[in-house]
Amino acid sequence: MTGSTSGPAPAARAGREALARLRSRLAVVLAVVTLVPLLAGALLLGLIAPAHARSSAVTAATRDADAAAVALAASCDTVRSSTRVAAGEIAAYATRNGGVLDRPAAETLAARAVARRPGSAVAVYGPDSEVLATSGPAAGRAVAASIGSEFSSVSPSCSAGRAGATGDAAGLTEISPVLINPAGTTAKVGVATVVTWLPLDQAALGVLRTKLSTTGQLSVLPARGQTVVLATSGDREALAGLLRTLPSAGQQSGTHGGLGYRLTDTGTGLPYRVLATDPIGGTGLRVAGWALLAGALALLIPLWIVLMRLTRPVTQELSAAGDQLRAGRMALADSLDRFGEALAHTHDLNELLATVSGTALSGTDAAAALVLLVTDERDLTAGTGGTAQAAGTGGAGDRRAADRSAGGTGDRLSVRSETGRADAAGDEARGLLPAFAEQHFAELIENSQTSQVFAEPELFHLPGAGPVAVIGIGVDVLPADSTAERGPARRRLIGVLVVARGEGAAAFDALHLTRLRALAGQTGTAITNIRRYQEVRRLSMTDTLTGLGNRAQLVGALSREIAAASRGDGVLTVLMLDIDHFKSVNDTWGHGFGDIVLRDFAGRLLACVREADTVARYGGEEFVVLLRDTDAEGGCRVAERVLNAARSRPFEDADVSQPVTVSIGVAAYPRDGRSADDVLQAADSALYAAKRDGRNRWRVAEPLHNAPIPSLPG
Ligand code: GH3
Ligand code: MG
Ligand code: MG
Repeated sequence: MTGSTSGPAPAARAGREALARLRSRLAVVLAVVTLVPLLAGALLLGLIAPAHARSSAVTAATRDADAAAVALAASCDTVRSSTRVAAGEIAAYATRNGGVLDRPAAETLAARAVARRPGSAVAVYGPDSEVLATSGPAAGRAVAASIGSEFSSVSPSCSAGRAGATGDAAGLTEISPVLINPAGTTAKVGVATVVTWLPLDQAALGVLRTKLSTTGQLSVLPARGQTVVLATSGDREALAGLLRTLPSAGQQSGTHGGLGYRLTDTGTGLPYRVLATDPIGGTGLRVAGWALLAGALALLIPLWIVLMRLTRPVTQELSAAGDQLRAGRMALADSLDRFGEALAHTHDLNELLATVSGTALSGTDAAAALVLLVTDERDLTAGTGGTAQAAGTGGAGDRRAADRSAGGTGDRLSVRSETGRADAAGDEARGLLPAFAEQHFAELIENSQTSQVFAEPELFHLPGAGPVAVIGIGVDVLPADSTAERGPARRRLIGVLVVARGEGAAAFDALHLTRLRALAGQTGTAITNIRRYQEVRRLSMTDTLTGLGNRAQLVGALSREIAAASRGDGVLTVLMLDIDHFKSVNDTWGHGFGDIVLRDFAGRLLACVREADTVARYGGEEFVVLLRDTDAEGGCRVAERVLNAARSRPFEDADVSQPVTVSIGVAAYPRDGRSADDVLQAADSALYAAKRDGRNRWRVAEPLHNAPIPSLPG
């Protein structure tokens, strides 16, 4: 798994970072869901409710001010009509009394006027502005009596703009001259002046308050010289401060120092403006709002901790799922890696097929997997059985079978590897797959062209095995002639890969099918490579002139046989042969004839031994025969047979006929050596002895411990 050391670490880190982001988002969402209502409540209580309270206070103040202005105007009318009635009575008396108003009459009439308008004070002045009479409360009488000095400078009406107040005393004043027509004249003559003073004292304000049905305290404030302001409530200092900031005429409303206020003129000529105030409510709400906001902010940290706790299971689950996914991927990558490794290194077809079936099983989450293959694709056209081979890797859940020679397609499907999950579904699917695969392969063969490309898995449902996918395995067709014009690579179908998901399992998904395609393609390529390798290997071990194995093949076979024999009490014998005077054959008849002799001799040699024995051309005109399970004595008999085969008839071609003999050295394992080299060396020495003793004979090696075997006559 090269390259995997740096792979998972950044992937895992990225996964953790993504989870952390997700968790933060979840927490933010939850926090928003929880905090937003709190913040909205705080906003409502802290901002909207106070605004509403302010506007309510201003509205109430406006209502009070307007009502007070109307009430004051009405009082003014009352004072005016009361004064006029008193003036009328005085005029009537003076007319009757010859144009003279005496003090007693004036006092009586003043008292009558005060009686008509309780709370008011009345002063009656003579023609020279002397006070003739006063009536009413003492304070009011003093005010009324002090106004006379100003008659000439003011309009004689309360609505004409006279406050008549001194200090804090405020009130409504009406001045009315008393005019009569003396007998026999038409010109009017002034005989007196009546002044009515209605104080706006606490009693008057109490009446006003009742009329306005207001709960606030009413008070009167002097302001801006003659103008006096009637206020309903509030701190007098604060109101005085407010008044200083407001314009001296017109209407004004707003808030100031926890009050909603309204300043309004009372009407034409009235010497008062009315300032009404109403306390702004909702302070409690505002405080609650800010408290709520502070609470919400203070809640943030514990809330965050709780949210983190709440989201932990989610992130843990996600993290676990991510880990599982990664583990799955790693497992797959690992199996693909192992598959790649097997492709790269195996030259053993059975081992490869076992890896293929195992990878197909894990790569498609299958219950069973099976790969069937012909040993040699020539079998497909020849119709004969290939060489039977066992395939598989062994281990639990693995089973292998070979030599399917029951006839029909089975003849051709000579290599098979199957594997399955170690459970009931795996067992059942594995039992059903071989017959299905063979039948399907037969159909594929019948319907396919040799150059067909086998790219797509076919899907079936096999009762008992569930969803089944079948994909062909193709190999490159090796060109018979390397000089042939190269066209597009052709592939020939040589087997099938079959996987079953198991009864009741879900269908294969796209990923499974992609893996199957890749696997089948790589398998075909790997098999092609194995065949090429085997061909090269075969060629490297073969002598081209005689078709026998060469020296390398002989040495390998001898080493293997000695190793096998050494595991038991096995024996084997080696014959080393050298054609006699071969140089002169060449020299006499030419190299071509020499080659004919070599080929003919190889054939005669093969005819002298069993199929299980090995015959190799050791070099030049030297040959070696390896006789399995044969002791030195048996070897000598074979040597004798070979001598006779050479002697039996001359070697010839169309023009030449030439007798040729051979000399043979015989050596045996373990009698003459325990290694391949030693045995060959012993045989070579024996051959040398045969040459030395006259050729056309065999000699057996000098035994290491035993007495020499006497040479048979030859
Ligand atoms: P001896 O009886 O002592 O073995 O004599 P010899 O002539 O057989 O032995 P020598 O080693 O002198 O000659 C072997 C000859 O075999 C020499 C060589 O040209 C010939 N030779 C080796 N390989 C081939 C071959 O592939 N084809 C042919 N035609 N001749 C070969
Ligand atoms: Mg020789
Ligand atoms: Mg020779």
